[in-house]
Amino acid sequence: MRPPMLSASSLVKHFGTAPALDGVDFAVAPGESVAVTGPSGSGKSTLLHCLAGIIRPDAGEVRLYDERIDTLSERSRSHLRRTRFAFLFQFGQLLPELPAEENVALPLMLGGTPRRAALGPARAQLKRLGLEGKEGRRPGELSGGEAQRVALARALVVNPAVVFADEPTGALDRATGDQVMGVLLDTVAELDAALVVVTHDPRIASRCTRTIEIRDGRLSGVPRTGDGAKDFDGFADAAARRPVIDGEGRFGPEPVAEVWR
Ligand code: ADP
Ligand code: MG
Repeated sequence: MRPPMLSASSLVKHFGTAPALDGVDFAVAPGESVAVTGPSGSGKSTLLHCLAGIIRPDAGEVRLYDERIDTLSERSRSHLRRTRFAFLFQFGQLLPELPAEENVALPLMLGGTPRRAALGPARAQLKRLGLEGKEGRRPGELSGGEAQRVALARALVVNPAVVFADEPTGALDRATGDQVMGVLLDTVAELDAALVVVTHDPRIASRCTRTIEIRDGRLSGVPRTGDGAKDFDGFADAAARRPVIDGEGRFGPEPVAEVWR
C-alpha cells in the first residue's frame, strides 16, 4: 500500500445548524481512484470541495503529502488548485465564447503561460481524447460527450496530482458516460494521479479501485458520536433507490469560478 497523497481527518463543515460534514476521514494514494457515493444532500460535494481547498472546513485537516492545505491562504489554495488539482463537473462549464482549444489552454494561461505556448499542450490533449479537428469549435458546436471530453482535456492539461470529478457523467447517456469515464481512468493511471469521483452510478463506482459512502455527513457505517452502532447500508442498496442524476441543482452553477480564482 502506497502512502496517501491526499488525506483528511475529522472534517467538519456546517452551512447552517445541521452539519454538511460531520467528522469524515479520507485518504487517497497515487494511482488510486475513489468513488464517493451516497444520497443527495449527504455531503459528497462538500467533501470534494474541502479536499480540493475550494472551501475551508470548520474543523479537521486536509493534507497534500505532508503539507496542511486547509490552513493555506486563499491565494495559495488558488495556486494549488490551478497547478496540482484538476476539476471535472457534471456540466463541463466550458466558456461558450471560446473555441475548444482555448478552453483547454485556459488553466495554463491563468497560470501565466503565454497563449501561444499554452495552445500546443491544449491541442495535444484534445488529440489524445479523440478531438482532433474540433479544436476550433465552440462548446455549442459540440455534442454533449465531446464537450465533456473538452472539459476533461482542460482538467488534464496541467498534469494534475489529483483529479476531482463531481458526477462527471451525470448529464451523459450511458455509452458516452462510459467512454468519458474510461478516458478519465486511463489518464489518471498514466499520470499516476489520484482520482476522487462523486457518482450515483454503481457501474462507475465499480470501475474505481475503492468506494466510500457518505450518509448525513458521515462515512457510512461510522456511527455518530453517541449513536448506537448502525447497520451498514450497502451502496448497491442505496444506488437502487436513487435516481441516476442528482436533479436538485441546489448549487446552481458549479463553483468553477472559485476553482480558478
Ligand atoms: P451532495 O453533494 O451529497 O448532494 P452537498 O455536499 O451538496 O450534498 O450538501 C450537503 C448539505 O449541505 C446539504 O444539506 C446542503 O443543502 C448543504 N449545503 C451544501 N452547500 C451549501 C451552501 N453553499 N450553502 C448552504 N448549504 C449548503
Ligand atoms: Mg453534490
